[in-house]
Amino acid sequence: MDCLFCKIVNGDIPSKKVYEDEHVLAFHDINPVAPVHVLMIPKKHIQSVLAIEPEDKELIGHLHLSLQKVAETMGVNEDGFRIVTNIGKHGQQTVFHLHYHLIGGRQLEWQF
Ligand code: ADP
Repeated sequence: MDCLFCKIVNGDIPSKKVYEDEHVLAFHDINPVAPVHVLMIPKKHIQSVLAIEPEDKELIGHLHLSLQKVAETMGVNEDGFRIVTNIGKHGQQTVFHLHYHLIGGRQLEWQF
């Protein structure tokens, strides 16, 4: 499948891994917008939040619990951070494999 993040899961494209288990992978974003910018993905190819199916409920719960671990590993759990997932054209999604941006390490603002 011609999916960038599937290629990262398969090891065809290198990544700087932060966390990995059987079902999820977290790695540093190649173009960080903050001191901490990690992407968390399910290894299963799911296009976006809109493509999550009832059978993925456990996987998505597991992914969120894994995000807690990554936040701790990256040292942002005490001061806080942001989790973002972009969906489709208006959301400016550019990679169509579900991913959660974990962004932190500095004071964030909220502007659009
Ligand atoms: P946007 O590009 O608007 O942030 P997405 O939410 O789809 O849209 O995010 C894709 C993210 O993937 C971007 O933050 C981008 O920097 C990151 N990215 C692209 N290629 C790689 C790569 N090879 N390794 C790590 N991160 C990557």
